[in-house]
Amino acid sequence: MMTSSRRGKFEALKRGVLALGLVRPGSLVRRFMPCGNPACRCMGRPPQLHGPYHQWTHKIAGKTKTVRLSAQQARLCREWSSNHRKLKRLLHQMELLSLKETDRILGARSVHKGTGK
Ligand SMILES: [Zn+2]
Repeated sequence: MMTSSRRGKFEALKRGVLALGLVRPGSLVRRFMPCGNPACRCMGRPPQLHGPYHQWTHKIAGKTKTVRLSAQQARLCREWSSNHRKLKRLLHQMELLSLKETDRILGARSVHKGTGK
């Protein structure tokens, strides 16, 4: 059985996961870019670049996928991305806590050496 303080923490972590909304892995980037027109202000000295452009990048099976987003879409993604970081943090804490607790349980049921049982 879990110690009561660890059980309380574990339950709180689970509630944290349940409270999360949508999660979106990847990262949001804001970029300023030239358009390529040599007469444009973006090619001047100093250059006045266009933007910000919002992009979402995410690695899938080793390939980086990039999606362009409107400012409104970027705001949504920011929230989902923040949820994703929270989820990872919660899962990590659940793992650490579970590791300690399962170590304790295994230790309590350790095999007695030399008894043959
Ligand atoms: Zn330009």
